[in-house]
Amino acid sequence: MNLTFLGTGGGRFTMIKQLRRTGGMYLSHGDFSLYIDPGPGALVHALDQGIDLEALDAVLVTHAHLDHCNDMNVLIEAMTSGGDRDTGTLLANKTVLHGAELDEKYVKGEGTYGDRIDPVLDRFHRGLVETVVELQGSGEHELGPFTVRWIEMEHSDPHTVGFTLATDDLMVGFTSDTELFDGMSEFFADCDVLVLNVMRPVDHDWKGHLTTEDAAELLNAVEPGFAVLQQFGSLFIYESVNEQEAWLEAHTDVDFVLAKDGMEIDLHQPQKGLDRFL
Ligand SMILES: [Zn+2]
Repeated sequence: MNLTFLGTGGGRFTMIKQLRRTGGMYLSHGDFSLYIDPGPGALVHALDQGIDLEALDAVLVTHAHLDHCNDMNVLIEAMTSGGDRDTGTLLANKTVLHGAELDEKYVKGEGTYGDRIDPVLDRFHRGLVETVVELQGSGEHELGPFTVRWIEMEHSDPHTVGFTLATDDLMVGFTSDTELFDGMSEFFADCDVLVLNVMRPVDHDWKGHLTTEDAAELLNAVEPGFAVLQQFGSLFIYESVNEQEAWLEAHTDVDFVLAKDGMEIDLHQPQKGLDRFL
């Protein structure tokens, strides 16, 4: 099972300045392939990296923020060969499909359009894709070789989901964007590999997101065999990625790597071959 990072950046300023790419992740296992959180650049960077998007089996979108969903509709076009083939599965959270009202703590001023999120999937592209699975609340779905399980996280898109992908011999977890909450480490407890979105550096808490300290707390609770940090916000990058790495090394015994754009990981033996990216 291979995971390729078409982007390792997250958050508004990393995205608009492209401090890191924001194309999300491409996962392949045997002849099954899944695109996860296609932010801006997903299409371009996937093609650059030689990925055959017309062979995609599924697209999974954890929430309706641009850095996670901007290229979703165009990937549906690619997956269905421009709409010629009635194929493919879209797994998306409730907001991507239907929109959502924001929780008060995330609303930016009264009288703006900032109090709700519009749906991202348009009717035309809903018509192209064969199957749509709504990742609402918590649940489980059989997807090709995987069992997908999900729960709602704590983020400004109120229906953001974190999820695990499991085969007979491997479980991989993806936190998506979230702050720590009760029950989170239990959900990821059986993961062999955990992929964490760590937007903020040490001493820079921000609602709805993980900091490097939170990453340490989660890793020490879950104790996965290996962890990958990604989706770095602009402060994380400006504060120095190397400093964050050193801080985390001193605060956890879990083996981990800070993802780089274009990095490809064999999830069965995650440390193998990583040197060429570091
Ligand atoms: Zn987000």
